[in-house]
Amino acid sequence: MNNHVTVLEIDTNAVLHNINHFKEKLAQATKVLVVVKAFGYGSDAVEIAKILEKNVDYFAVAYTDEGIALRNAGIQAPILVLHPQLQNLEKIIEHQLEPNLYSFTILKTFLEIADQKLLLNYPIHLEFNTGLNRIGFWHTDVPIILAHIKKSNNIYIASVFSHLAASDDLNEKIFTRSQINNFTSISEEISAHLDNKPMLHLLNTSGIVNYLEAQFDMVRLGIGLYGFGNDTSETKQLKNVASLTSIISQIHQIKPQESVGYNRAFVATKFTKTATVPIGHADGISRKLGNGNGHVLVNNQKAPIIGNVCMDMIMIDITEITCNEGDQVILFNSQKMVEKIAEKTDTISYEILTAISQRVKRCIRY
Ligand SMILES: *Cc1c(COP(=O)(O)O)cnc(C)c1O
Repeated sequence: MNNHVTVLEIDTNAVLHNINHFKEKLAQATKVLVVVKAFGYGSDAVEIAKILEKNVDYFAVAYTDEGIALRNAGIQAPILVLHPQLQNLEKIIEHQLEPNLYSFTILKTFLEIADQKLLLNYPIHLEFNTGLNRIGFWHTDVPIILAHIKKSNNIYIASVFSHLAASDDLNEKIFTRSQINNFTSISEEISAHLDNKPMLHLLNTSGIVNYLEAQFDMVRLGIGLYGFGNDTSETKQLKNVASLTSIISQIHQIKPQESVGYNRAFVATKFTKTATVPIGHADGISRKLGNGNGHVLVNNQKAPIIGNVCMDMIMIDITEITCNEGDQVILFNSQKMVEKIAEKTDTISYEILTAISQRVKRCIRY
């Protein structure tokens, strides 16, 4: 299939299953934006976009270059750039990307460029801060925004949106409801002053799971597409998209008192059979998984990672496992395994997926 032994396999049928799972929850008219930032959450943004271009209404990326990569691959659907930078606004226009204008600095600069370039009705998006306090205008900015925009036919407001801070945390229901209410009143105020009604959107994956009543005109699906619902029962209904596998490069027989790896972190107390696997911390395997904290699967059996994780390799204990050089090693091939790794490394599934470096070959299974 390819000459790389360490691969991240992307299951396109799982992607389709997951998108349909979320679509079934939504009203027929609700549009779907799929978030493919950070290489499609570590998978393959171009492939995800190609698979879904006919099934969804919008794509979103975080940064301009990510959007350009999609355009260069031939993706024609609308692409929202969530966090464009002032330096990239010309490139955004050149590649027909749609900027989120989230502050007066970026709004004014874009309006100047749009005026110079004589753009006509160029689609832009406005993000409002309703409690995440990350990026976005404030409710009180609405009249000034309208004053700036109403004078211009260079642009039009394609959508108005906000982002929830704790949609996955049901202890924060009161806070989330206040974000929803705040967003509702902001969007009503804006819509009242415009001829064309901008699309409204608020929900990310956990928002869809927990606050379906706030789906507005569109939802922004990220982690759920990749198989994680931030909720055990939700995740069970999704299919795993990404599987990380490698092989055994070499097998060693280690005598008692001998050590394995840097700083001699593992010292054998008995005869130990080890295998070396060509994947390391430079590929996204956290050093926190070393010294027996994490394990991989060899022939369906757990093999602990021993000693320190190296940049390009790990060593595993296969004393009890019948296996040979060249056999497959599974780093993860289920949501459960990813969640276990996340737990052991004090993080969340998002970080495990996006940490898989670009050195690992992506392999698409149709
Ligand atoms: C990343 C992101 C999303 C997707 O969030 P998930 O939790 O992965 O569904 C949606 N909206 C914005 C603004 C984001 O930055």
